[in-house]
Amino acid sequence: MKHLVRHIPPIHEIQQTTKFHTFLRHHEISTEIGTDLLKKAISFCRISILNDEWKGPHPSSEAFLEEVLARAEAMVHESYFPSLRRIINATGTILHTNLGRARLGQEAINHVIEVSCQFSNLEYDIDEGVRGSRHSHAEKFICELTGAEAAMVVNNNAAAVFLILSALARQKEVIVSRGELVEIGGSFRISSIMEESGALLHEVGTTNKTHIRDYEEAMNEETSMIMKVHQSNFIIKGFTASVSTDELVELSQLHSGILYYEDLGSGAFYDFTRAGIGNEPIVKEVLERGVDLVSFSGDKLLGGPQAGIIAGKKRWIDQLKKHQLARVLRVDKMTLAALEMTLLQYIKGEEQVKNPTIESITRSKEAILHQSRQFAEDIHSLQKGYRSEILEGKSQIGGGTMPEVELDTYTVSVIHDGISPQEIHEKLRKGSPSILTRIQDGVVLFDLRTVSTKEQMEIIQALQTM
Ligand SMILES: *Cc1c(COP(=O)(O)O)cnc(C)c1O
Repeated sequence: MKHLVRHIPPIHEIQQTTKFHTFLRHHEISTEIGTDLLKKAISFCRISILNDEWKGPHPSSEAFLEEVLARAEAMVHESYFPSLRRIINATGTILHTNLGRARLGQEAINHVIEVSCQFSNLEYDIDEGVRGSRHSHAEKFICELTGAEAAMVVNNNAAAVFLILSALARQKEVIVSRGELVEIGGSFRISSIMEESGALLHEVGTTNKTHIRDYEEAMNEETSMIMKVHQSNFIIKGFTASVSTDELVELSQLHSGILYYEDLGSGAFYDFTRAGIGNEPIVKEVLERGVDLVSFSGDKLLGGPQAGIIAGKKRWIDQLKKHQLARVLRVDKMTLAALEMTLLQYIKGEEQVKNPTIESITRSKEAILHQSRQFAEDIHSLQKGYRSEILEGKSQIGGGTMPEVELDTYTVSVIHDGISPQEIHEKLRKGSPSILTRIQDGVVLFDLRTVSTKEQMEIIQALQTM
């Protein structure tokens, strides 16, 4: 059998064939990469022949060429596939830090495409025909929504905190309550960010209680800022006291030149309290109380792209815009395009807000029940030995927002006599597309709050072929 290797056509011959050229065109790969894959595929066949393991067609045949190209094709799929992939999130957690946080609405995406595939007025003033400012685009909308005098956008809220502290509190003291020195996510600690920025942290109060007199006593000539950090991913319950925004505004206004800044974390434009969800203050209300500066994320409760939004008094924002770091932390046109479209929907009115985050949070229990029934029926009609049940449950908002809120939901539990819940869970996760579920009390749970009807059909398909 080993003699067959002599019949393997030389590479340069295969390179001349129409099949090879079709292969290159089809996968949009260069001749060089295509040739490399071809060599690897042939080498595999050669070794297989030499080991007497070859069961394929005769090397001189047309079918052999097809087999070689099929192998090369499999390698294309392994090596030239994007690493970022979509996921179907059936956990019910709406803002998942590991799953890309907020999903963008279609209009926002369309605007990104329009602006990014072509030239744009990113830094050009069309009316005057002169250089314009990148800051101008989202700024007017942020000001309109928040009532702020000025605003700017940076890469994310962590960057916003860093810029504010670096530009406005360097080598000066910033008073923060010990109850608010939080860690958000894996590595973001307010205290570490402050250290990096060069601002001097002046901690006051205790973890559970801080009083206005603690702030008053801490004020001195070195104080430049009072900072309040919203407790975004935890709650302190029981014997607690914190100082209100109104009291801190009043205190800061008694001392000229002292800035009062609130890191809002999520920063909502949508009034969730009206829907009976949580007690997240809307940004406009916070600024109306007289806070000098606020910052918040674009991709938490706002439902926009990753961004850090800073809004407040013009005097401070002007200083931030001029700082060297503003250039370092600036955002791309894609972010600005997605953000401005997200903001525009809020300006047009709450009922115009068509972004998946708001839709998932405000989705009614009845709508989820309806979808869950459909899903359970679909599972039943598979006749594959799955058993399912509809249960009441809770979904979380996640992403370090509204930690105290549990949204009423329905979940569909799935079990199978022959396949363990762990196995179902894992196979769904490793499938294409990857489907994430929860395992609870020995069953696989699907919370369809965050699943579209199209995705629901994909889940059914995955269960069918398991
Ligand atoms: C989430 C959060 C941040 C960090 O915001 P990113 O947009 O993730 O950078 C900062 N502060 C608070 C209070 C937060 O909740």
